[in-house]
Amino acid sequence: MTKNEYIENAEQSLLHTYVRYPVVFERGEGMYLYDTDGKRYLDCYAGIAVLAFGHADKKYNQELKKQIDHVIHVSNLFYNVPAVEASEKLLAVSEMDRVFFTNSGTEAIEGALKAARKYRYQRTGKNDGEIIAMEHSFHGRSMGAVSVTGTEHYRTPFEPLIGGVRFATFNDLESVKQAVTDKTCAILLETVQGEGGIYPAKPGFLQGVRKLCDEKDILLILDEIQCGMGRTGKMFAWQHYGVKPDILTTAKALGCGVPVGAFLMTERVAADSLAPGDHGTTYGGNPLACAAVSTVLDLFKERDILSHVNEITPYLEERLDALVDAYPCIEARRGLGFMQGLAFAEDTPASEIASAAIENGLLVITAGSNVLRIVPPLIIERTHIDEMIRILKNVLDGRKG
Ligand SMILES: *Cc1c(COP(=O)(O)O)cnc(C)c1O
Repeated sequence: MTKNEYIENAEQSLLHTYVRYPVVFERGEGMYLYDTDGKRYLDCYAGIAVLAFGHADKKYNQELKKQIDHVIHVSNLFYNVPAVEASEKLLAVSEMDRVFFTNSGTEAIEGALKAARKYRYQRTGKNDGEIIAMEHSFHGRSMGAVSVTGTEHYRTPFEPLIGGVRFATFNDLESVKQAVTDKTCAILLETVQGEGGIYPAKPGFLQGVRKLCDEKDILLILDEIQCGMGRTGKMFAWQHYGVKPDILTTAKALGCGVPVGAFLMTERVAADSLAPGDHGTTYGGNPLACAAVSTVLDLFKERDILSHVNEITPYLEERLDALVDAYPCIEARRGLGFMQGLAFAEDTPASEIASAAIENGLLVITAGSNVLRIVPPLIIERTHIDEMIRILKNVLDGRKG
């Protein structure tokens, strides 16, 4: 089939929930993806912050193939070896005490919300727990996750949603305090807002929210589905702030391509929340998914990925800052580590910049109202950054003329 035939067929059969870029990918290798015409693209979006080691990593693939030949699924009615190994390793790097594996980030959010509601019910006998979430947040597309997502057009068509949700302003502690009632059971936020436009939490805000939670026995849920797993230079972004959550969600780079997520909690929460019969999943935490998690965490250690992120980040920031200085249509750079956003002026749609970059062989995506999102594989080197900047400059110069 030709590229256009693939696209036509896809448009006839897939539900129209995405406006896709007109590219059909066939294979990947390291920092590059190749389309059906053999055209090469530098990958600076990593399948939306998923592929920490880039494409077709030999060791990762080898370990998964091995697991496929052993056993790929047994259900949670029994124990399995990779789940034990993966949980031990994930708890060690996350500083949490208990983990529940899911199939996606959305499901990790669902589990976190259920755990928070159950915690209040268990401790007070009341089933009226309220959750405070942030404006411009993104937590997924299921009914529960949409209910706590701070973008009205994601919510409105699907109402009535789950009740008891209040929205506060991210990085505005006073607005969070005002949203607290005696029913509040959890405050949910992304340590670095992703889809909302790449906004890192301010240290004083996060510390203030933690203090508020401690004073009122409210659970702090940090959604690190996008910003976690090494992307910011720490295994989890909260570790930059010294503000530990009570419940933590992760997904995206957790499996590096195999669909898997998790919600984790401290023992204090675990002791008073979800119990046998309260929650479950058929696929979640199956041997294949957990072999991926286990291998990913091994590779982080073996290759000292965090040191690499921290070593390269200043160079990435410097090159992006130079772009901001050189092009008036870019208003600001925001981000932490390898999670960076370029905020464009109103008259320069970031979506057009992304499309033009993709045509020129650079894969970048958008976020928020007008932000170019750069979330490359964590193996990116200086030479790739140079290549990325060169293509972005070409695109921006092309618009000037
Ligand atoms: C991607 C994302 C989700 C949803 O994860 P899925 O795997 O797409 O269900 C939730 N929260 C954040 C912060 C995300 O970036």
